[in-house]
Amino acid sequence: WKTVVVITGCSSGIGLGLAVRLASDASQGFKVYATMRNLGKKERLLESVRDGHMDTLEILQMDVTDEQSVVSAAQKIKEQKVDVLVCNAGVGLMGPLECHSYQNMKTIFDVNFFGTISTIQAFLPGMKHRKSGKIIISSSVGGLQGVPFNAVYCASKFAVEGLCESLAIVLQHFNVHISLIECGPVNTNFLQNLQRTDPDDRRLQEMDLETRALYQQYLQHCQTIFRDAAQDTEDILQQVFMEAIKAPSPALRYFTTQFFMPLTKLKLESTNGSDYVKAMHTFVFSSNQKRDDKA
Ligand code: NAD
Repeated sequence: WKTVVVITGCSSGIGLGLAVRLASDASQGFKVYATMRNLGKKERLLESVRDGHMDTLEILQMDVTDEQSVVSAAQKIKEQKVDVLVCNAGVGLMGPLECHSYQNMKTIFDVNFFGTISTIQAFLPGMKHRKSGKIIISSSVGGLQGVPFNAVYCASKFAVEGLCESLAIVLQHFNVHISLIECGPVNTNFLQNLQRTDPDDRRLQEMDLETRALYQQYLQHCQTIFRDAAQDTEDILQQVFMEAIKAPSPALRYFTTQFFMPLTKLKLESTNGSDYVKAMHTFVFSSNQKRDDKA
């Protein structure tokens, strides 16, 4: 019997890497249903798993924002049981809040939050019935603490955190484990794929100069953080996702990096909230200032 794994968002990044890692596992112990919104993008996955592991991989269409698409993918699982569900599909949104259109913001919630809910709803009844299952979520440090110019993205991941923490309490009765993988920056195309307010955006150009300058500073900070602290997909898959997938009784949260831990702890320990806000402000906006001064 193979461990049946369903993963969302497998055309790139973490989802692609995890599908390849599991389908190519030396034990041949996993059967991976790698799902993606657009099957036109399946070539990279097929290329990476070509070497004799095709019986451990099946690719299905699934747009997590389309309930019908989620349900019909679920009906195609031949084993009719899923041991591990990985809710990974996600999109970012970066920019001053006033620049985001309602539609932009809604898309972020549709994918990151409601998409996660629809996927869980499709597979949870089977897991509860069998009294066994693991749900792994690609969450973010931004799901635990606010990040400037990422307000809506963070809000969507905060929502996912609340959803999963609440579910986990009830799911203890069903031997179903839910785990949030708190990713820091990871070297994927996430930054390129996210929706971002560009410098020539009309709404940005009409904004006050101070917000525009701070946003510019944030974009530089973001580049620096990705350059200095981003992790390789392979490393977080091997060290964190695989640990959660293989653990007999996985924890609710796994952190891929200790880089943001002082800020995370400050937020939890100093309950007034203001200390975190000040520290995050210093972290993002003072470091650039120091670099500018040195230059
Ligand atoms: P990515 O952009 O390569 O992957 C996101 C995947 O989600 C893509 O394959 C995309 O096609 C898919 N997707 C988007 N909308 C979808 C939809 N409606 N239906 C199905 N799939 C859809 O980036 P990634 O870094 O691999 O991101 C994976 C997850 O990790 C996301 O949830 C993201 O929020 C989270 N994360 C990433 C980082 C990072 O720095 N890369 C940091 C924290 C959290």
